[in-house]
Amino acid sequence: MSNEKTIDISNFVSTAADQGTVVAGLPLPSFSHIGVEPISGACGCIITGADLTRPLEPAVLGEVMKAFEHFLVIVFRDQALSPEQHKAFSRCFGELTELPQAPTYDGHLDMQEVRREAYEEKNVVPSFEHFHTDSPFLPRPPLCVVMRALAVPRFGGDTAFSNAYLVYEDLSAGMQKLLDGLQVVYSGKDIWAKNAKLDKDKRLRLREEHSFTEAELENIHPAVRRHPVTGRKALYATTAYFKRFVDWSEEESRALLGYLQGLAQRAEYQCRVRWQPDTVLVWDNRFLLHRGVHDFKNERRHLVRTTIIGERPI
Ligand code: MN
Repeated sequence: MSNEKTIDISNFVSTAADQGTVVAGLPLPSFSHIGVEPISGACGCIITGADLTRPLEPAVLGEVMKAFEHFLVIVFRDQALSPEQHKAFSRCFGELTELPQAPTYDGHLDMQEVRREAYEEKNVVPSFEHFHTDSPFLPRPPLCVVMRALAVPRFGGDTAFSNAYLVYEDLSAGMQKLLDGLQVVYSGKDIWAKNAKLDKDKRLRLREEHSFTEAELENIHPAVRRHPVTGRKALYATTAYFKRFVDWSEEESRALLGYLQGLAQRAEYQCRVRWQPDTVLVWDNRFLLHRGVHDFKNERRHLVRTTIIGERPI
C-alpha cells in the first residue's frame, strides 16, 4: 500500500510557449532583418546587424522603429558616427530640437553634451540623478534622445531606465482614475536663478544663452499621457521641473508625487545599459524614465546627443 499522492504533472508544464513571450508588457514581436536581444523583461534591447554610419534599408529601418516602439530604449554597439552621421540617423525619428538648458556640443547648436571630467567630484550636468524625463516643461517635450558615448568609465556610469507604461498599468483602478484626471505644471523658468545661488562647485553646467521664450519654459501637461497611435497610457509625472498638480496645493502635490516617483525605483520596471565607446542609444522620452548612475570616481564620462521634438502630450 502506498500513501503517495498522485502528482499532476500538468502543474509543472509551462504554458508560456502557448501564450507567447511577453517582454516590456506586450507579446514579443518577431524580427527578421536585425538581431534583437532584450536586456530585461521591462524595457530595452540590443540591436545587431545595423550600420548607422549609412542610411538604413527601409526593411531594416522599419524593424529598428518596431524595436524602439516595443522596448523604448534600443542599443547599438560600435557605431563610430561623425556628428553629421549622428544627426542623419536621428532624423529617422523626427525633427531635431535645441534645448534651452543643456550645454551644446562642439559648436553644434542641435547637439548636446553630457560631460563629467575625471577631476570633477560630482555630477555637474543637468541630467538629474533620479529618474526623470527630459525637458517636460516644453510645449512639445522631446520624443526621444539619440546618445552616443565618446568616453566612459572603465566600470560604472551606466544609464538606467524605467518603463512608465508598466508603472501605470500596475496601479489600482482607483489610483489610475485619480491620475487620469490630473494635470501637471512643469517649469524650467527658474533653473538658472536657482543654479546661481549654489556654491560654485555644486553648480550645474547649464547652457548660458538660448532663444526660447518664457512661455516655452512653462507648460501644463497631463499626469498620464497616451501614445498618439496605440492609446496605451503611461505615468507622466516626475520630480524634474515639477511645480504642482493643477488645482492642488504644493504640499499635496509633493506628497502624491513622492509616492509616484518612488514607483519608478522598483527594479522590475527597469533595465540598465552599460556604455562602451561608440555605443549609441535611442530612448523614448515620453513613456520611459532615465537617469545616469554616478557610481564612478576619477574617470571621464563624455556622451553626446541629439534631441528629437515630440508631440504635445495627450
Ligand atoms: Mn536626462
